[in-house]
Amino acid sequence: MSVTRCGVLPDTSAPGDAYDVTVVGAGVVGCAIARELARYRLRVALVEASGDVGEGSSKANTAILHTGFDAVPGSLEARLVREGGRMLAAYADEAGIAVEPVGALLVAWDEEQLAALPRLADKAARNGHHGTRPVSAAELRAREPHLGPGALGALDVPGESVVDPWSTPLAYATQAVRSGVDLHLDCRVEKVRPGGPGVPHRLITRRGVLRTRFLVNACGLYADAFDALVGRHDFTVTPRRGQLVVFDPFARALVRHILLPVPGPLGKGVLIAPTVFGNVLLGPTAEDLDDRTATGSTAEGLAALRAQGRRILPALLDEEVTAVYAGLRAATGTEDYRIAAHPELRYVTVGGIRSTGLTASLALGRHTVELLADAGLELGAERPLAPVRMPNLGEASPRPYQDAERIARDPAYGRVVCHCERVTRGEIRDALASTVPPASLDGLRRRTRARAGRCQGFSCGAAVRALFEEGTR
Ligand SMILES: Cc1cc2nc3c(=O)[nH]c(=O)nc-3n(C[C@H](O)[C@H](O)[C@H](O)COP(=O)(O)OP(=O)(O)OC[C@H]3O[C@@H](n4cnc5c(N)ncnc54)[C@H](O)[C@@H]3O)c2cc1C
Repeated sequence: MSVTRCGVLPDTSAPGDAYDVTVVGAGVVGCAIARELARYRLRVALVEASGDVGEGSSKANTAILHTGFDAVPGSLEARLVREGGRMLAAYADEAGIAVEPVGALLVAWDEEQLAALPRLADKAARNGHHGTRPVSAAELRAREPHLGPGALGALDVPGESVVDPWSTPLAYATQAVRSGVDLHLDCRVEKVRPGGPGVPHRLITRRGVLRTRFLVNACGLYADAFDALVGRHDFTVTPRRGQLVVFDPFARALVRHILLPVPGPLGKGVLIAPTVFGNVLLGPTAEDLDDRTATGSTAEGLAALRAQGRRILPALLDEEVTAVYAGLRAATGTEDYRIAAHPELRYVTVGGIRSTGLTASLALGRHTVELLADAGLELGAERPLAPVRMPNLGEASPRPYQDAERIARDPAYGRVVCHCERVTRGEIRDALASTVPPASLDGLRRRTRARAGRCQGFSCGAAVRALFEEGTR
C-alpha cells in the first residue's frame, strides 16, 4: 500500500519488477479502473499528473447519478451508464457515499418541447428505463410549487439521483491503495517508449522512469495527447465548458427534484438540481473551447444561466450565491465514449468520457479490465477488495457534529471549525491522516466540506489552514 507525491519512483528496471498494469490519470475513471484491477494479484500503478485524485473534470460536475434514460440507445455509453448507475448506487450504500434518489422532472416550456416528451419516454424505454410517465401541468405545479409560470407539463423520470462527486473517486482510490495499488501523484507521464514482445513499456515521467507490461490511458481531457505518445491519432478532444452557480442551502426548500430541460444539440442543457450537501445547482453551460485549462467563469456565462434559471425557478434568483465554478467535458465529436483496446500494444484508451463519467465509472472500470484480459492480461483468481467506509458529507444522514455519542467518545467531533458547513476538528484530523491525504486546502475541502460554505473560508480559512499545515508537517 503506497501513495507517493515526490522522490524517485520505485525501481522497475529489473526483469519481473515492472508493473503488470499502469493506469494513467486518477480522475473518477482512472481510480475506478485501478480499483477494479486491485481485485487481482497484479502489480498495479495509478499515475497522476496533479497532486491529488479527482483534480480534473471529476471535481467540477453536476453530481447527478444518471439512469441513462436519455443516452443514445445501443451505444456503449448507454450500456455503461445504465450498468454504472446501478453499480454506483449499491457501492455508495456500502462505502458510505451520500446519494439522494430525488428523481427528475423533464420540464416542457413550449408546445414543441411538450411534443418531444413521448419521444423521450420511448428513448428511455429503449434504454431499459420503463418507469417514465407524463405529468400534467397541474401535477407538475403541485410537485414543484416554485416553478416559474408557463410550464406545460413534464416527463417524470424516477431513479435519477444526486451523489457526492468528491468522495466517489476518493473512495475508489482509497480502496485501490488499501488493496495494494501504488498511487503516484505529481507524476505526469511525458513520453512513452512502447515495449515489444516480452519487453515492457517505458513511461518517462517527471519523477523518473516506470516500466509496465500493460498500459491504460484514462487522461480525460488529454486522452488524445496521451494516445499520440503511443502513436495513435484516433480522435481529438474538444473541451466543452460547463459553468455552474451554487446557491446557498436556504434555497434548498425551493426545489424537490432535478429539473431537467428538454435536451438540445449541445447536450443535456441547463438544469436546476439539489445537491447532497444541501445546496442548489444551476447550470451547466455548454461552450466548445480550444483551451483545456479554461475553467474560469465568465460574466456572459453566468448572465445566461441567471436568465434561464429565472424562467425555471424565479425565487431561486433571489437567493444568495455561495460559489460559481466551471468544469470541462471531454467532447470528441461523437455521441459515445472513445474506448479502444490495442492488444498489439498492450494498451487501452478510455477516452471521450464526456458528461456521464461519474455515473458510468464503475462499469467503465469493469469494462476496461475485460478489455485488458482480452488483450492478454492474465488476471488470475479474484480476491475481495479491502473494505472502505467514507466519512459522510451528505445532509440526509447525521453529520459528526450532530452525533452526541460520537462526540462523547471523541470531543474533537464536537469542535466545529468551519461554521458554515459545520465541519469539525475531528473530521479535518481524520482527512489529514487518511489513506489518500489531501495535498492542498482544496483537497481538504473535497474531503470534509471545510471552506465550501457561504463565507468560502473568510471566517474559518486561517484556522483550517493552521490545522492543514500542522497535519501535513
Ligand atoms: C460541467 C460538467 C457536468 C457534469 N455532470 C455530470 C453528471 O452530473 N453526472 C455524471 O455522471 N458525469 C458528469 N460529468 C462528467 C464527469 O465529470 C466526467 O465524465 C468525468 O469526471 C471524467 O473523468 P475522467 O477520469 O475521465 O477525467 P478527469 O477527471 O479529467 O481525470 C483525468 C486525469 O488524467 C490526468 N492526466 C492527464 N494527462 C496525464 C499525463 N500525461 N500523466 C498523468 N496524468 C495525466 C489529469 O491530471 C486528470 O486528473 C460532468 C462533467 C462536467 C464538466
